[in-house]
Parts: sequence; structure tokens; C-alpha cells
Amino acid sequence: MTTFSYLQRSARVSRDNDTEIATRRFQVFTERQLDQIPQLARLDEEQRFAMRVVANVLPFRVNQYVIDELIDWDNIPDDPIFQLSFPQRGMLSETQYQRMADLLRQTDDRGAIRELAQTLRQELNPHPAGQMQMNVPKLDNQRLEGIQHKYRETVLFFPSQGQTCHSYCSFCFRWAQFVGDKELRFSSNEAGRLHDYLRRHKAVSDLLITGGDPMVMKTRHLEGYLKPLLGKEFEHIHNLRIGTKAISFWPQRFVSDPDADELLRLLEKLVKNGKQVAIMAHINHWREIDTPIAREAIRRIRATGAVIRSQSPLVAHINDDPQVWATMWRMQSHLGIIPYYMFVERDTGARHYFEVPLKRAWEIYRDAMSRVSGLARTARGPSMSAGPGKVEIQGVSEINGEKVFVLRFIQGRNPEWVQRPFFAKYNPQATWLNHLEPAFGEEAFFFDAEYRQMQERKLCPVPLS
Ligand SMILES: *Cc1c(COP(=O)(O)O)cnc(C)c1O
Repeated sequence: MTTFSYLQRSARVSRDNDTEIATRRFQVFTERQLDQIPQLARLDEEQRFAMRVVANVLPFRVNQYVIDELIDWDNIPDDPIFQLSFPQRGMLSETQYQRMADLLRQTDDRGAIRELAQTLRQELNPHPAGQMQMNVPKLDNQRLEGIQHKYRETVLFFPSQGQTCHSYCSFCFRWAQFVGDKELRFSSNEAGRLHDYLRRHKAVSDLLITGGDPMVMKTRHLEGYLKPLLGKEFEHIHNLRIGTKAISFWPQRFVSDPDADELLRLLEKLVKNGKQVAIMAHINHWREIDTPIAREAIRRIRATGAVIRSQSPLVAHINDDPQVWATMWRMQSHLGIIPYYMFVERDTGARHYFEVPLKRAWEIYRDAMSRVSGLARTARGPSMSAGPGKVEIQGVSEINGEKVFVLRFIQGRNPEWVQRPFFAKYNPQATWLNHLEPAFGEEAFFFDAEYRQMQERKLCPVPLS
């Protein structure tokens, strides 16, 4: 007999609704199994071929829950969750597309296909923002693969068992991890080294376990990373964040998977022992949290004392509409999810398909904000996670007759950069920080020289202790 409220409620849900909630089996489809997805029979031969072409370059993986419960098959190809999950022809440039299409028409030699795929991927900026060169820290002069430490307070950890997802996002900025090129991958299976690093870095207050999706891991693996942090030598680690899209893609993880209850017990234990546990939920569209089982997952997570914060990029074809964001933030806030970040789509992968001009991103943010209650106005953004830091577009303004973007760092490689307003020439086409030039005829942004020095040294200036 247990006293956990989430366990009692869950038993009732599965009794009421056995077939819908408790008994779905996890089943995924990848590029090789595209033909086995019955719903795709609605597309013509050419559309299905186009999917195969793209899915041979960019990662593709979708599960049955997403197919059956999240996509409106009467609205393809426009349906946002279809765009989010299934490869579209426009995701490759015309040249890239033709090269792969020609090859696939000629041969099914996997080696040749893989080789061309790798060439094309190299053209897609697989590791934006200097992640490989600048964010990986050292301990005793050894690079700690699978750890990134860019901002003083927060360490990112990529557990090796968590480097996949229940379903893939077509716009994923970490797409390079999922295409099988080992050297493009970030991951670590070394709990020991993570703990050594954290033990020696007392300025770190947050650990963010990320991926892939750490929620693909069995609970006992997650426990191996997290439970030791309850020890006295980790008192400085106040916040344990887990980045995940499982609420959207596989809410069963928290409700009906064999170790779902164990997972909730782990979260509760961490909370009861003084850690702030934050589920950093990746939610792109309100539809993802509008199914009964997603609602149940949210309820159960919250019952453990963990908080759920949400973040999402703003992406064309999926959520480039203030109405979608307003509805999403309103719904999240009602469900007890705290909107955290709105991101600008990064300069990698199929970015030309998904990108939205900075000017438009700011308009969407502002419009959506103006439609919701103050409680739902907690997301910062639109924010570019760029090499120097997270840069927020605060707005468009006119100063001394010059039209400008007003910008600020939400996070900076140097904490002293944070919250200082700075200005760029207005540019309605710009989609990323490197398209912006300093306003008022200045030569450089205030952080440029220092950032260049950091790049030359190839290290993050995160101080020890
Ligand atoms: C966003 C981000 C973090 C976390 O920053 P917060 O503003 O604390 O959420 C940490 N590391 C990297 C590399 C990031 O991009």
C-alpha cells in the first residue's frame, strides 16, 4: 500500500480508460519503415519518395502515439505536428535534394548512400555555436566528453543512454547526434566523472540533464546520475533540471511504462531531500499537451513536487503564429507549467525551412504576450542561443532617427555581459545574430573582442570553484 497521490490517481485513470491510456505499446518507425505507416498511404508516390530522400540525410523517427494522437491526418501536409515529425522536401536545398534523389534512384547500396549523406550533413553546420570547441570542460587536463559548461551556474550533462528520443523533431538543433556519425555525438556514460566535476565546481547550482531525451533512459539509470547528488558534498547543486519532450511524445513514460511509478518516486525523493526538480519540457504546440494522457502525465509529475517549465523554438510551418503561442502559454499556465523560453531556430540543419526573421519573431512574441494573463507572461525571448550567449531581441526602436534592434544577453559566456542593452542596425531579413551589425556606425558589438579572444583560446572562461 502506498501513500503517493499520483499512484492512487493513476490506478483510477487506467481502470476508467484501459484501452486509451494504459495499454499502448511503444512502437517507432524510422526511414526503413516509412512504408509501414498506414496513414502515409494518403500521399502519392512522389511525396513518399521525397520523404525517403530527406530521411536519408536528416534524422527521422516517429512513434505510433504521435502518429495516432497528435497528427490530424485530414490536414496534411499543413498539420503542425506532421511538419514537426515527418521529413519535407523543402528541408534540403534543391541541389542537396537532387543529389540524394538521383543516388536513391540509381542504387540501394547503403554504403554509397551513407557516404553522400555524410557529405551533405557537413554542409548543414552540424555543431553550431562552438559547442564542441568551446563548451566541453576539462578535469585534470582531460576533456570531459558528454559535459558542457558554458554558463557559470549551469552544467549540461548528456548521459550516453539518453542520446535518442521517443520521436524526433524535424527542426532539431542537435540533429547531428542522431544520424549515426559517432564523432558528431555528445554523450557520456560516466556518472563518476560528472560527480567529480560537480564536486569541484561549487559555483555550479544547476545540473541540466539533457540529450537526446534523458527520459528514454530506464529510471534506474537516471537514478544512478541523480541520487548521489543528495550527498553532502553536492549541497551547492540546488536545481536538477531534466530536459525532455516525453510529455509530448511519450507521456506514457510518466503514467503507464513499467518503471513510470519508480520514476515519480525518484523525483519525489529528490524534492523531499531539498532539491528543486525542474522538468524542462520541450513543447512546440498546444496540441501536444491537449491529450488525456499528456494531462495525466503533467498532473503526476506535479504531484511529486517537481515543477514543469516549458521552452520551444519559434519555427515556420509549426508555430509561427501568435495565436498558437497565446493558446499554448494560456494552457500551460492553467496546467501549472511555467513558460520559460521562446527560442529562435538555430543556424543548423534544415534552418532555411524553419527560420523566421528576427523582426517577425519579436512581433509574434509581443502579440502572443499581449493576449495572455500576466501569469502566462513568464517566457523570455525570442532568444538566440549563439556562441557568445543567449541574446534576446527586446524589440525594434528608433534612436536619433536610426531604426534599431534592441538586444540584451540573457546569458553570457562572461556573466558581466548579462542584461546590458545593446543595439544593432535594423535588418528585416536577419534571422540570426551573425546577420546583425552594430548600430550608430560602431565598429563592433561591446562583447566582440572578448569573445574572439575566447574563441582563439578555445575555452570557456568558466572559473574553477
Ligand atoms: C540555455 C543554456 C543553459 C541554461 O541557461 P539558463 O538561462 O539558466 O536556463 C546552460 N547551458 C547552455 C549551453 C545553454 O544553452
